[in-house]
Amino acid sequence: MVVGASARAAIGGCRRLITSRLVPTQASLSVSFQCRQMSMDSRSISEKLRNSGLLRTQGLIAGKWVDAYDKKTIKVNNPATGDIVADVACMGGKETNDAIASAYEAFTSWSKVTAAERSKILRRWYELLIAHKEELGQLITLEQGKPLKEAIGEIAYGASFIEYFSEEAKRVYGDIIPATLSDRRLLVLKQPVGVVGAITPWNFPLAMITRKVGPALASGCTVVVKPSELTPLTALAAAELALQAGVPPGAVNVVMGNAPEIGDALLSSPQVRKITFTGSTAVGKKLMAGAAPTVKRVSLELGGNAPSIVFDDADLDVAVKGTLAAKFRNSGQTCVCANRVLVQDGIYDKFAEAFAEAVQKLEVGDGFKEGVTQGPLINEAAVQKVETFVQDAVSKGAKVLLGGKRHSLGMTFYEPTVIGDVKSDMLMSKEEIFGPVAPLIRFKTEEDAIRIANDTNAGLAAYIFTNNVQRTWRVSEALEYGLVGVNEGIISTEVAPFGGVKQSGLGREGSKYGMDEYLEIKYVCLGDMNRK
Ligand code: NAP
Repeated sequence: MVVGASARAAIGGCRRLITSRLVPTQASLSVSFQCRQMSMDSRSISEKLRNSGLLRTQGLIAGKWVDAYDKKTIKVNNPATGDIVADVACMGGKETNDAIASAYEAFTSWSKVTAAERSKILRRWYELLIAHKEELGQLITLEQGKPLKEAIGEIAYGASFIEYFSEEAKRVYGDIIPATLSDRRLLVLKQPVGVVGAITPWNFPLAMITRKVGPALASGCTVVVKPSELTPLTALAAAELALQAGVPPGAVNVVMGNAPEIGDALLSSPQVRKITFTGSTAVGKKLMAGAAPTVKRVSLELGGNAPSIVFDDADLDVAVKGTLAAKFRNSGQTCVCANRVLVQDGIYDKFAEAFAEAVQKLEVGDGFKEGVTQGPLINEAAVQKVETFVQDAVSKGAKVLLGGKRHSLGMTFYEPTVIGDVKSDMLMSKEEIFGPVAPLIRFKTEEDAIRIANDTNAGLAAYIFTNNVQRTWRVSEALEYGLVGVNEGIISTEVAPFGGVKQSGLGREGSKYGMDEYLEIKYVCLGDMNRK
């Protein structure tokens, strides 16, 4: 029922990205010695993690760690070095069906646990995540590549959703509605949706899971989580800590491997009442269609094409700092990354110069190396996509102001890049770059900026830099986006609603609104209430 499984089927269901990641490029061959040095470091780190019990490689079903039923495994590798970090169970439909059955059974009891008790268990999970933030951060750097400091930051951010929803668990209030007839009493109850299938991407291996599992468990739902096969280790470690915190067997299950097969099993099961997905718009659309036959609730956090709009009246330093943060976090691999930097005529030259100067200071390298701010891209395909976008822009008249090629470190490292004179017809204006490339687009008027910014099917995050309060309101209201940052490039927080409009998604995560996604509303009408 789901989607393009053909490529995976040909290789037994699980992608083998290790092969493409390890294809040596000219540049990578020239630095092979340096890579070997780093890989020794990452080996000793993974050894330490194995000893700590946080390097799990089996799936979690009904509270038990299990291999894939056919014993298949996927190789998880470190994108900075190509090292194989672990062989992880490559699961499919059968394991997913068992995970669903265990979640369904656990729902009966978990949904009846008092909110206060669920809250305590979630709080313990939060505390364990924080207590292990260094090791979990190391796991993220190992399998995803982001710099260790940023990875530890993700643990704090990811854990904050568990803390927040541990508190919200106690605040799921219903309503009493004034009755229209004197012998009636009208009530509204909020009840957990049921079993939730949660499918998450590789770019935030913890936070994209906790944003879903936190509110799901808080509201009394149980979950089958499917992390990306590129970054399953963080998810498995987090699940281990959930068990230690007292989350009962079956309330959280983790399966990974053959994504289309797992997706199919989740979609076709009538026991799964909700699908929550973070990932690409293409896969999101397929899941939405696949959820139709069983009419499941669907939440989608999909791709973006964020504009960062710098007006003539902006503070130059604030605009440079904010756009730099919005663009280059996680080497440009976030859904809220500034994908297009729109700069007004009067400040364009000054901004371009100051921005390129700031970008030049970014340090590229293995995320475990002190001072590194830019890790590798996730795989070879990601680098090739960036190369294609840069070639396309240059062939249509854009100018490389900085970078514009693979980094001399080789592997999947790409130079932080600034491209000037980018136009709307270039690929990088139309699609997510998902890499460390900042395209500068010149505009004349506020109306032009709004028109260019909204000229996309995506509508997740947008940023504006201005010191004019009236413009702040006008532009914030006119932007067709779910999130707007004003004079700030990093705006996500567990207390505010996160989500997109147009083809960037449905529903919100985080905040009090994030809880509603896991709750059904039930109207209860009490009749014959005047009888004595
Ligand atoms: P992706 O290819 O769509 O994968 C996301 C998840 O879906 C992974 O777990 C993947 O599994 C799984 N998947 C792929 N095909 C599937 C299928 N047929 N059925 C069921 N599951 C399937 O996206 P990605 O490359 O990992 O992540 C990058 C994208 O996510 C970007 O577009 C980014 O903007 C978006 N994103 C959005 C947000 C947001 O909040 N809006 C946040 C972060 C990222 P495997 O990896 O195991 O194949």
